[in-house]
Amino acid sequence: MYNERIAKLRSRLEDPLLVTFLPNIRYLTGFTGSNAFVLVSNDRLVFITDGRYAEMGERIVSGIDGAELVTYRTGLVDVLIEQFGDSERVGLEAKDVSWSFVHGLKEKARAGLIATTGVVEQLRAVKDDAEIASLAAAAAVGDAAFTQVRELAATAQSEADLGWGIVGAMRQAGGRQAGWPPIAAAGPNAALPHHLSAGDPLGSGLLLLDYGCTVDGYHSDMSRTIWLQGEPEEEIKRMHGAVLESQEAGIAAVAPGVTGHDVDEACRAVLRDYGYEDLFLHSTGHGVGLEIHEGPRLAKSSEDVLVAGNVVTVEPGIYVAGFGGVRIEDMVVVTAEGHRVLTESDKGWNA
Ligand code: ZN
Repeated sequence: MYNERIAKLRSRLEDPLLVTFLPNIRYLTGFTGSNAFVLVSNDRLVFITDGRYAEMGERIVSGIDGAELVTYRTGLVDVLIEQFGDSERVGLEAKDVSWSFVHGLKEKARAGLIATTGVVEQLRAVKDDAEIASLAAAAAVGDAAFTQVRELAATAQSEADLGWGIVGAMRQAGGRQAGWPPIAAAGPNAALPHHLSAGDPLGSGLLLLDYGCTVDGYHSDMSRTIWLQGEPEEEIKRMHGAVLESQEAGIAAVAPGVTGHDVDEACRAVLRDYGYEDLFLHSTGHGVGLEIHEGPRLAKSSEDVLVAGNVVTVEPGIYVAGFGGVRIEDMVVVTAEGHRVLTESDKGWNA
């Protein structure tokens, strides 16, 4: 698996690439630690890490054809430069490296340092079957937690308390880590798309949830908006109906060859008809994988073209300050025929 990914990466390289971004390193090698560098050229792969990961490093290089392991304790810059050898140019991952790291290298390196963006990320955007299975498993964990939400909400002391309850439910269902502290936004707090759940009580009405976990390092991401007791106000029902219709139109649009803009527009057009477009405060969705937000983007300005193997969220929402908000989000795989939805939880306000 890693050999295949590295071969694909090599076919795209003009110069050796120093991979520093940890999700990219995990994708290429399986490394799950916090410090490593991978120098990939057409004929070499050097895995560089510090003493803490020497043993893990041994295991990693033993699984990759021709890989070499270099461990260091101090003097990282010199270690990297030695590995650059007489390469004329070396690519760096421009979105990951820090100013001080680049300048430290520049002072000593003979090789020219080239800024690259998205080289490994473009490979990661197209998932293989094993990755899709991990994403589906993570989505199933989110669904399992959702079946317990009403019960958890009945005894939760606060939004954050419900968040912890959801984390526990995900852990029991096989989640390895929470993707982030769950968003549980009650009443007017639901008007903030990324509300930070804290000590506010849940109340008995509107509740917006957005949470996820990881399985094998792959993220799930889902949002539901429900009403805790009784019937919602008419305006919330109308908002919920509009968002659900918008979200389903977005999902229906997901297929190979369609742009991120097209899916966004499918969602937006429904909200426009309801007069809610101005209340849609974010874009429609994002790729999901080893990172919670990755390519492709589903947004008004996105020219990303969907291909089979992309996994994206479709998550329109509308927000009325001081009143409340509704967001509904699923994870969707792009397939050769169109799409398949991974999250299966009921989407009604009384779910
Ligand atoms: Zn999302």
